[in-house]
Amino acid sequence: MDKPTIDLSLPKTPREFGFFVDGGWIGAGDRDVFERNSPGHNVPVSRIPKCTEADLDMAVASARRAFDDRRWSGLSGADRAAVLLKTAEGIRTRAEEIAYWETLENGKPISQARAEVGGCIGMFEYASGLARAIHGDSFNNLGDGMFGVVTREPVGVVGLITPWNFPFLILCERVPYILAAGCTIVAKPSEVTSVTTLMLAEILHDAGLPDGVMNVVTGSGSTIGQGLIEHDHVDMLSFTGSTAVGRRVVEASGRTNFKKLGLELGGKNPQIVFADADLEDAADGVAFGIGFNTGQCCVSGSRLIVERSVADQFADMVAEKFKKVRVGDPLDEATQVGAITTDAQNATIMGYIEKGQSEGATLLHGGEQLDFGRGQYIAPTLFGNVTRDMAIAREEIFGPVLTVMPFDTVEQAIDIANDTEYGLAASVWTKNIDKALTVTRRVQAGRFWVNTTLSGGPELPIGGFKQSGWGREAGIYGVEEYTQIKSVHIEIGKRSPWVE
Ligand code: NDP
Repeated sequence: MDKPTIDLSLPKTPREFGFFVDGGWIGAGDRDVFERNSPGHNVPVSRIPKCTEADLDMAVASARRAFDDRRWSGLSGADRAAVLLKTAEGIRTRAEEIAYWETLENGKPISQARAEVGGCIGMFEYASGLARAIHGDSFNNLGDGMFGVVTREPVGVVGLITPWNFPFLILCERVPYILAAGCTIVAKPSEVTSVTTLMLAEILHDAGLPDGVMNVVTGSGSTIGQGLIEHDHVDMLSFTGSTAVGRRVVEASGRTNFKKLGLELGGKNPQIVFADADLEDAADGVAFGIGFNTGQCCVSGSRLIVERSVADQFADMVAEKFKKVRVGDPLDEATQVGAITTDAQNATIMGYIEKGQSEGATLLHGGEQLDFGRGQYIAPTLFGNVTRDMAIAREEIFGPVLTVMPFDTVEQAIDIANDTEYGLAASVWTKNIDKALTVTRRVQAGRFWVNTTLSGGPELPIGGFKQSGWGREAGIYGVEEYTQIKSVHIEIGKRSPWVE
């Protein structure tokens, strides 16, 4: 059957959405409404309710009931898997619509949005297998009188706070694993990119997920997000976003019910290039690593660390790539780099570009806002003469801004790479296996790429070292995060009495 196609023109009027609780839509009613403008075109595209604290309580109560009565966790892994597989089919059927809304609200190129949605289908398919594979352990070595069993149980109600840079992908790196584990969910997407999270709730419902297992509450981080991280009836909180808000999540957990936390936070990720690398491949990978999603990725390769003998030549090669990258209207099929997602982020990136110049770095390429008549766009930007202490070398910019620093020895490359509070991701480019392995072992990062960058998929876990976060998402490790372990001692035969 042909997939339904979708008209890629801008909506004439913004589309109205409700929020999703206990298996159904709730309209905005008399609640305030947030209107989202497409960052690539600056026209209103969606209107989303600003939920109240009472709405949040209702959603948490719904998830609580659904967890406590075991309507989901009490099913067999096979039954949960069937729902996840059907959801994968539902996403496949609505893939064009989801990609279109990702592009409208986030500003990412439509071709990229389509590829991400394809990846999300794989997440559900893979996690469906994990629903059947989760298991514990047994200890048959405790003597004839004792048998030990270790079981995994779902953690419970999971609060899920996701950011605006990959609204659907980050969601789908978590939801199928959380559901595979048997947990229930209250999700709060970023206010500026809520639509595709609401769509996923509907698709899950249509796939047979019991009511109350997936709830979505819309609204701002400071109200609904803060309410969710402080909520006493939420057992675990998965947060993806800034390190600053991550700290608030940790504090809120400590102040309230010590909910378990999963955190994926910022990054300032190194790209280490040795002179013996395939420099053409490396230049392409480095340009992709910072240009993809306009550099608004927690894993963007934002610090280029190059062996001194090829540093100038390599910087020129990357600048050449930047010149050719097609920046423009996200709805144009040919576009590779789209719009900056929010006004605040646009101001932050331009602020860093100014700061880089005032701190004495040399602008080698870009640095300017691109004018396409509407929307907000920034040219891929390259800075040379960067020192370790500069803000552009230390702080997460979250934009298409790359800094170059030379190194002379392997030790120095590792030292520069590790000179950051973050530890999310890193790449190394070399044809020398010893250098590749030494750097992979010694650079502190939760995700590593050798002669490639930004590869991913449902099998390998994601997450960070140092201040980039706690825990792992995706893969078997991801599903295990949403379980807790119970040890069971089982006595065999007659007890030897304590009281004679
Ligand atoms: P935030 O950390 O503020 O936003 C991430 C998510 O947290 C959003 O859903 C947001 O909701 C929510 N949130 C905001 N405040 C609170 C709160 N007090 N309690 C609970 N949830 C909250 O990131 P920003 O959008 O402000 O971006 C700022 C910087 O963060 C970026 O420049 C970038 O450096 C980094 N960032 C990192 C990301 C990553 O993937 N690691 C993703 C996004 C940002 P809402 O948007 O509705 O306010």
